[in-house]
Amino acid sequence: MPNGFTKHLGVDAPSFRAGRKRGSARHGGPRVLSVGFGRLIDMSRFRLQPSPAQEAALLEHCGHARFVWNLAVEQHAHWKRGRKSAPGFAEQCRQLTEARAAFEWLRAGSVTVQQQALKDFHQAMANFFGKSHRKPTWRRRGQGEGFRIVAVKPGDVRRISRNVGEVKIPKVGWVRFRWSRPVAEAKSYRMTRDAAGRWHVAFAAVPEPIPAPGTGEVVGADRGVAVSAALSTGELLNAPGLRDTEKKRLLRLQRKLAKAKRGSNRRGKVKAAIARLKARETDRRKDWVEKTSTDLARLFDVIAVEDLKISNMTRSARGTVEAPGKNVRQKAGLNRGILANGWGQLVTRLEQKAPGRAQKINPRFTSQTCNACGHRAAESRENQSRFGCVACGHQAHADVNAAKNIRDTAAGHAVAARGGSALAKPVNREPQRDLLLMG
Ligand SMILES: [Zn+2]
Repeated sequence: MPNGFTKHLGVDAPSFRAGRKRGSARHGGPRVLSVGFGRLIDMSRFRLQPSPAQEAALLEHCGHARFVWNLAVEQHAHWKRGRKSAPGFAEQCRQLTEARAAFEWLRAGSVTVQQQALKDFHQAMANFFGKSHRKPTWRRRGQGEGFRIVAVKPGDVRRISRNVGEVKIPKVGWVRFRWSRPVAEAKSYRMTRDAAGRWHVAFAAVPEPIPAPGTGEVVGADRGVAVSAALSTGELLNAPGLRDTEKKRLLRLQRKLAKAKRGSNRRGKVKAAIARLKARETDRRKDWVEKTSTDLARLFDVIAVEDLKISNMTRSARGTVEAPGKNVRQKAGLNRGILANGWGQLVTRLEQKAPGRAQKINPRFTSQTCNACGHRAAESRENQSRFGCVACGHQAHADVNAAKNIRDTAAGHAVAARGGSALAKPVNREPQRDLLLMG
């Protein structure tokens, strides 16, 4: 991987280089993907201000949610391939009922909170099997504490003065939060306590659909290995992470943590500092997902992405998983996990912001097929970032080549569905049989 190249892809992603629309950045409104360190706050999050008594009750909810979650993790840990399947959601709900009958302290808690923890776990497992997230793990006290409230009615959130709102929580009652900006209507919300002991409420609002531009343009996006995402326009996008100085600081803090005595004051401080840095990284990625999904939904009629469920099985066959050495492999695995995480969020947001316009494409062979001549050969994929067609000699960034194949597959479908509209069809090229047949 040439260094200058990755450097070029840095945080300030260049604007779309869509051939047909050249120059429109100046005239036709912003046509720029605004990726970078911008807003660092999750716009749906508000600072919760519980009274001491309420805080104790909230912590109890957290404890129940953690208990139920860990129970589910444990049951799934016992499951091995070939054995009778681990209990599903319905089965675990039954077990929860039994557990509530048996344990007074659990029964005293909110069944909504406990059931939702189970549901969250099952969603986490689905994400794991869909390869968009890492496997859900054991939750420790004081780490990522939180619980979710669902089936929220509009009256469950109210404003009591200019800067103060209240949110209704089962068995706790009305808890105040800082009404620091408009609150979107939400179907669920999540209460969290960060490592620094601050409470937040996050309203899970489904974003409004964004109207299609009506240009008939299709864009393909491939989850890259070398970059976060490659577009068929040639654009390479990188989700921002930590800056170099921040990475160094994180390393320093982690070394300090290893040396700090358990339970010491210093250790607590170091832990909090690490938590803040990691939260910053998460915020930046979320921010990137929001901006990128908004821009794609605004600029293109159809956004084609790989179907993660299918790529789960074919990813290794695509030759994108290289295993040169143990350390490198571990690192690659970690990066992939992080990228996959952001990618899953991006696809979810796209489906919400561009309903019916986000197409999931079977990614099989998209990385091995030449977008110029249609020839398919595993050897054409020279390495993670270069594609060199063994048949016609076409050279391209491997992820961009794949993104173009994804776009063309979607365009092929769209053309068939509309009986041949003005949709951008690749010229002087045979339709790519393999890709078209996969759908
Ligand atoms: Zn070729």
